[in-house]
Amino acid sequence: MAVTRTFSIIKPDATARNLTGAVTQALEEAGLRVVASKRIRMTREQAEAFYAVHRERPFFGDLVSFMISGPVVVQVLEGEDAVARNREVMGATNPADAAEGTIRKRFAQSIEANSVHGSDSEENAATEIAFFFEPGEIVG
Ligand code: GDP
Repeated sequence: MAVTRTFSIIKPDATARNLTGAVTQALEEAGLRVVASKRIRMTREQAEAFYAVHRERPFFGDLVSFMISGPVVVQVLEGEDAVARNREVMGATNPADAAEGTIRKRFAQSIEANSVHGSDSEENAATEIAFFFEPGEIVG
């Protein structure tokens, strides 16, 4: 299987509870390598653009407000089949449905404050990586 990249966000509920290290450790233990990382405070414009696909969903406004409520850590992860591997270690969107041992089962507070974002396809991963990182910031 090929080594590929995916995009991850450690969300405000996790940074607020000082879980950046614990989440990163879970990603690394799942075989993913953090090849780029920065802690940022998203602007409303950035969050709205990033989640534009959800613009028509009833929770869009709440989601944007949540994502700008505190700092986030944006990361590029690399590994074997990285998109699928990351989705597996993240767990289901709703922590109530997430499998034992997954990041969302362990740490998420609700379907919205669910601790991590992970790209859902290689195509979206490339778009999301380019949204936050210059090529020179991804250092392997
Ligand atoms: P993901 O790919 O597992 O993150 O899930 P989605 O792409 O479906 O949703 C994006 C994000 O929107 C989720 O990670 C949650 O933070 C939030 N979200 C999804 N569904 C709901 C919902 O029903 N209510 C609220 N408040 N937020 C939601």
